[in-house]
Amino acid sequence: MNGGKTYQIRTFGCQMNVHDSERLAGQLEEAGYVPAGADDAPDLVVFNTCAVRENADNKLYGTLGHLRPAKDANPDMQIAVGGCLAQKDRGEIVKRAPWVDVVFGTHNIGALPVLLERARHNAEAEVEILESLETFPSTLPARRESAYSGWVSISVGCNNTCTFCIVPSLRGKERDRRPGEVLAEVEALVAEGVLEVTLLGQNVNSYGVEFGERDAFSKLLRACGGIDGLERVRFTSPHPAAFTDDVIDAMAETPNVCPQLHMPLQSGSDRILREMRRSYRSSRFLSILDKVRDRIPDAAITTDIIVGFPGETEKDFQATLDVVREARFSSAFTFQYSRRPGTPAAELPDQLPKQVVQERYDRLVELVNEIAWDENKKLVGRKVELLVAEGEGRKDTETRRMSGRARDGRLVHFTPTGAAIEGSVRPGDVVETVVTYGAPHHLVADGDLLSHRRTRAGDNVEAGRRPRTDGVSLGLPSFGRPAPQPVATGGCGL
Ligand code: SF4
Repeated sequence: MNGGKTYQIRTFGCQMNVHDSERLAGQLEEAGYVPAGADDAPDLVVFNTCAVRENADNKLYGTLGHLRPAKDANPDMQIAVGGCLAQKDRGEIVKRAPWVDVVFGTHNIGALPVLLERARHNAEAEVEILESLETFPSTLPARRESAYSGWVSISVGCNNTCTFCIVPSLRGKERDRRPGEVLAEVEALVAEGVLEVTLLGQNVNSYGVEFGERDAFSKLLRACGGIDGLERVRFTSPHPAAFTDDVIDAMAETPNVCPQLHMPLQSGSDRILREMRRSYRSSRFLSILDKVRDRIPDAAITTDIIVGFPGETEKDFQATLDVVREARFSSAFTFQYSRRPGTPAAELPDQLPKQVVQERYDRLVELVNEIAWDENKKLVGRKVELLVAEGEGRKDTETRRMSGRARDGRLVHFTPTGAAIEGSVRPGDVVETVVTYGAPHHLVADGDLLSHRRTRAGDNVEAGRRPRTDGVSLGLPSFGRPAPQPVATGGCGL
């Protein structure tokens, strides 16, 4: 029905959105759409929005305004807006931008093709926002962006009530996917040559609460360890309050689970953590890190930190710096607190002036970078195994390097030279090399490669193929052509 119509998806926000966009693409292609070329004017533009960033709504309405002339010139063109901001603003979007055709929320991404069809047929905007999940997104077909690395959702929503976070009101209560379905999706990806999966959930440690199994997440990690051909397992995000020793044991004892942990701190001040309604305290946070490093000495630990939460004093901020010094993060996503309408923290009285927040933020970033640099320098001389990546090294062409991720998640720019190379090195292949320089945000390996393994993922990248999963739990993936990569803009500050 839509044969030949072209689409483009513009993605904002966290990994959840990036993965949801893969599902949106899968459905659109099943409905007959094809990806628009980089220089073509698409017949359909879909915005998968994020409500977390300050001014997200102004930016969206600005971008929609830019599309108006294209829509006026081509009334058959359609524009759809989904994601968290759509869930929040609902009908407001078509009031402010009446040239939008479809608004859909976070609970009904599976309805997009039908809503587009209905809007075209009725020649009026369709706004459909549901209050709870209609279909678990993973049951929808997906057109994957990467041939070597895949996202697999284990849960959606969150049962916590962090006062700065909009997720509970926009994504709803946590819904867990059955382990058998998660593992079937992982196996289906691996069967198509994917080497690495990242298990996704707002709070992966509470996985299993819905079906009453306490150790469900550690069991899931161990089960991933039994999947032949799956070389790397990562996950995001855990929550310090629910992070239990069985997960640390599973990480340490399952060889394909990577030595990497993203553990959101948010604040080092116990008073602010209480205000944020995050139930752990800084001592518990640091004791988790000690345990992880005791069992997994080379673990790279990253974090999220919010500066300038309402009421934060210089003493509170110093407590954050103290934890950062002790925790020695390999990197940190740092955020300046910004008031997000709809969150409890937006109503708190003592909102801090921008210049105070900025000044603390600058000091924090300086410390975080200094520590990350020190940690990276310690890795000079170390042998690393890299999964070669696509598009991760901005300067690769001028430096004649390629880029890849080490098992601990660090970005390494390497020189693809040496007798070990078979044919050419492609994204999706696996190489080994030795680190020669540590920078604050990446490593460099400028010697000849120690080894190079050609993989099926590399063959697929070379041939321009990407996995497509059918979405039903035991569905078999098939291959399609790649579309332009989505633009992911930072995390959601979990
Ligand atoms: S910050 Fe994370 S844990 Fe807290 S409510 Fe938001 S999604 Fe849940």
